[in-house]
Amino acid sequence: MQKLDGKIVAEACRKQIKSKAEQFQRQNGRPVGLAVCIVGEDPASQVYVANKLKACEEVGFYSVEKKLPASISVSELKKIITDLNQDNKIDGILVQLPLPKSLSSKEVLNWVAPEKDADCLTAANLGRLWSGEPWSIPCTPYGVMKILEHYKIQAAGKRAVVVGRSNIVGKPMAHLLTEANATVTVCHSKTPNTREHTSQADIVVVAAGQPRFLGKEDFKKGSVVIDVGMHRSNENGKTKLFGDVRFEELEGHVSAATPVPGGVGPMTITMLLENTLRLAELKIRGNK
Ligand code: NAP
Repeated sequence: MQKLDGKIVAEACRKQIKSKAEQFQRQNGRPVGLAVCIVGEDPASQVYVANKLKACEEVGFYSVEKKLPASISVSELKKIITDLNQDNKIDGILVQLPLPKSLSSKEVLNWVAPEKDADCLTAANLGRLWSGEPWSIPCTPYGVMKILEHYKIQAAGKRAVVVGRSNIVGKPMAHLLTEANATVTVCHSKTPNTREHTSQADIVVVAAGQPRFLGKEDFKKGSVVIDVGMHRSNENGKTKLFGDVRFEELEGHVSAATPVPGGVGPMTITMLLENTLRLAELKIRGNK
């Protein structure tokens, strides 16, 4: 079984992004800029945001963190996002999810100007994606496609199953695989027998958010398994990360699979950088 190493793919992508970001700065007299808004004190979100800001620094982006209290009012938050929409130093804006329960993420995400929507979560950009003219692409599914591309795994003509149908992962994943000419089935919590579908597929992307719920018996021999799931457990004071798939069962059965950690995870932030660079370049070219 080939281990599909997201760290290697992410590193290769980041090298390219860094060199393009340097070129952007030379040509435009300013770096590519990303703003990250985090509302509240969710510990996992704080780690994700810190990693995003570190990644920006590594590729030479300018970055701004807006650390906001969970008690922020709707109008205050709207004002901050509107100001970022108008800030010429900022090319991409990301609102870290989840938001506190008092705020509607659907409403807040749509305050981000589509031309700065680095996560592709606004209705306008999802529409662009679906119509085949994306400005940005949802980061996690985009990262999965990059892994397949890097390891020369063809989706065209293959039978693919996506387990999960969230707006952030499952639905855009199914769309990107369809665009890549796979024949795609989407399973979700109301699918009566998910195994019936996954065990027939050449490529399975698992994004159900269910710890270790699929194993060897769920996959066809020789298939490719991509595990998007991300879960944490605390064992003897040490944090352990694991996915939706029982990776250790797959050896000798599937042809390739992503581990957790070190599979899809490193790609998500990398694709945020890629989207931000693309938005910056589109703005300069006057395509938006
Ligand atoms: P989500 O919004 O909770 O969606 C989960 C999806 O899985 C839903 O569509 C749900 O169906 C479906 N599902 C739940 N149980 C199922 C089952 N037993 N059989 C088949 N389908 C089932 O989660 P998400 O945001 O898409 O994230 C999914 C996982 O990926 C999570 O573990 C998350 O932490 C991880 N993730 C990782 C990254 C990364 O960078 N590695 C990024 C994003 C997310 P219904 O629609 O019917 O409820």
